[in-house]
Amino acid sequence: MPRVHDAIVVGSGPNGLAAAAYLARAGLSVLVLEAQGTPGGAVRTREVTLPGFHHDLGAAFFPFGEISPALVPLNLGGAGLAWKHLPIDSAHPAADGTCASISRDLETSMASFGEDGPAWRKIALWHRRTRDRMLDALLSTLPALGPMLRFGPINLLRLARVAISSGRGYASSQFRTEAARRVIPGLALHTDVGPDDAMGAVVGFVLAVLASSGGFGVPVGGASAITKALIRRVEERGGTLRCGVRVRKILVRGGRAVAVLTTAGEEIEARHAIVADVAAPTLYRSLLEESVVPPRVLAAMKTFRQGFGTFKMDWALDGPVPWTHEDCSRASVVHAGDSLDDLAKFTAEVRDGKLPSHPYMVIGQQSLADPTRAPAGQHTLWAYTRVPAKAPDGWSHDRESFADRLESRIEELAPGFKKRILARAIFSPEDLEAMNENLIGGDLGGGSAAIRHQLFFRPVFPWFRYRTPVKRLYLGSSYTHPGAGVHGACGRNAAQMVLRDVG
Ligand SMILES: Cc1cc2nc3c(=O)[nH]c(=O)nc-3n(C[C@H](O)[C@H](O)[C@H](O)COP(=O)(O)OP(=O)(O)OC[C@H]3O[C@@H](n4cnc5c(N)ncnc54)[C@H](O)[C@@H]3O)c2cc1C
Repeated sequence: MPRVHDAIVVGSGPNGLAAAAYLARAGLSVLVLEAQGTPGGAVRTREVTLPGFHHDLGAAFFPFGEISPALVPLNLGGAGLAWKHLPIDSAHPAADGTCASISRDLETSMASFGEDGPAWRKIALWHRRTRDRMLDALLSTLPALGPMLRFGPINLLRLARVAISSGRGYASSQFRTEAARRVIPGLALHTDVGPDDAMGAVVGFVLAVLASSGGFGVPVGGASAITKALIRRVEERGGTLRCGVRVRKILVRGGRAVAVLTTAGEEIEARHAIVADVAAPTLYRSLLEESVVPPRVLAAMKTFRQGFGTFKMDWALDGPVPWTHEDCSRASVVHAGDSLDDLAKFTAEVRDGKLPSHPYMVIGQQSLADPTRAPAGQHTLWAYTRVPAKAPDGWSHDRESFADRLESRIEELAPGFKKRILARAIFSPEDLEAMNENLIGGDLGGGSAAIRHQLFFRPVFPWFRYRTPVKRLYLGSSYTHPGAGVHGACGRNAAQMVLRDVG
C-alpha cells in the first residue's frame, strides 16, 4: 500500500465516509483510518443481546437518511441501501392515555393531533412546499447565502420566528392540548436543549417536520447498511479503508498538515489534505502539538461544552411491546415524556448532575419495520435517555439500577413489557465513549446543540467553515456545522472545502 495519499480521512463515521466518498469521486486517492476494529462510528449494528438479534449501537432512525442533499448525490440506494417505514414515525404518549403522533400521512397526523390537527396541518403543508430548499439552507457551508436566498425571505422569517422561541413558547403559541405541546420540545431533547431554553424550539421543530416528510426510516439489515453503502462508494473510486488504526498525532511541517502518526508508530503522508472526523477538543488538544494551535482556540477547547451524556439500552424481546396506546404499536420511534413540565424537570435534573427520576426516553422499534433484525415473531428494542456524563456514585455502581428505572418507565406506557424481556444490553456514557472516542462523556451530538454553540460558533469562531488554523487540515465531524445526525453534510462540506483549496 502506498505511504502517500492525496487525502487522509481520520475516522470512518458517516461524516468521515461522506468526505472520503466526495474526495474519491473528485479523483483524489483517499485513505480512511479508523481506530475501532469495525467502521461506521456511531452507525454500526451488532448482536449485543442474543444471537439473531441485530441492534444498532448508535444511530437508528434517519430523518435525513433518504433526503439529505449531502447523501442523495451518492445514490446509496444504488449501493445496496434499502429503507423501511412504519405508518407512524414519531409517537408521543403519556401515562394519562393521550398521544400525539406524527406520520408521513397528513390525515393520520391530523387525526392524532385532535383539536390541534389544523395547526399541525399548517406547519406540515408549509414544510412540504419548502423541504428541499430548507434542507439545503440548513445543511450547507455557512454563510450559505445562495441556499438562504433560494429558501426565500418569507420562509426564512418563518423559521426565524421558530428559532427565537423556546420549545415551550413555540409549542404553547401553536397548540392548545398538552399532548401536542409536548411533541416539539420532546424531540429537542434528542440533544441537550430543554423546553425552557432560549431559542430552543428550532431543533425539535426541524425533527418534527422531517418526521412528517422523509419520516424516521430504518435501513434494512441495520444502521450498518448505511456504513456499508458509503464504504462501497469510497472503495469503488479507489479509496481505501483501514480499521484498527488509531491516529495519535497529526504532523505539521512549515505550517501545513503533512502526515499522520498512528499509535503503532506508522507515519502516513497526505499530499493535499487531512480531514479529521474526530471530536474538536481531541483534534486541538491532543492530535495537534500545542504550539501550532492559536491560544484562543486552545482556550475555547479547554472549556468546550459537550452535550448531555447518553444512557443507551437494547433489548431482545419475545414479542412486540404491549403499548397501551395503539399508535405506539405502529410507530418507528416512541418518545416518553408526559408533559412540558415533566420534560423541564428532566432537563433540570440532568443539568444538576442527577440521574433523572422520571426519564424522558427515545424508544426505537426497528424490528417492527424490518423483520430481519430479530428471529421470527421476536423483536429488538432500542432506547436512550440523557444523563450527566458521570453518575453520582459512578456508572459501575448505578448502571443496573438506572437500567431498571428505564424499564419501569416503559412499563408505565406498556404494562407487561418487562415480561417480554429475554435479554438486555446496557451502555453507560463511559461504555459509549469506549466504543467511539468522539462520544465524549456519552455526548451523541458532537458538542452542545444550544444556540450559542451553533452556526458560526461551531466548533469555534472563526473556524466554522471546516478549515482549521493549520493549512491542509480540515475538521469534518459532527462537531462542525450543522452538527449531529446522519446527514453526511459536515463531511461533504469539508470535502468541498478541500477541493476548493486544492483547485
Ligand atoms: C446512542 C446514539 C444514538 C443516536 N441516534 C441517532 C439517530 O437515531 N439518528 C441520527 O441521525 N443520529 C443519531 N445519532 C447521532 C449520529 O450517530 C452522529 O451524529 C453521527 O454518527 C456523527 O457522525 P461523525 O462521522 O461525525 O462521527 P462518529 O459517527 O462519531 O464517527 C467518528 C469515528 O471516528 C473514529 N475516530 C475518532 N478519533 C480517531 C482517531 N484518532 N483515529 C482514528 N479514528 C478515530 C471513531 O472511532 C469513530 O468511528 C446517535 C448517536 C448515538 C451515539
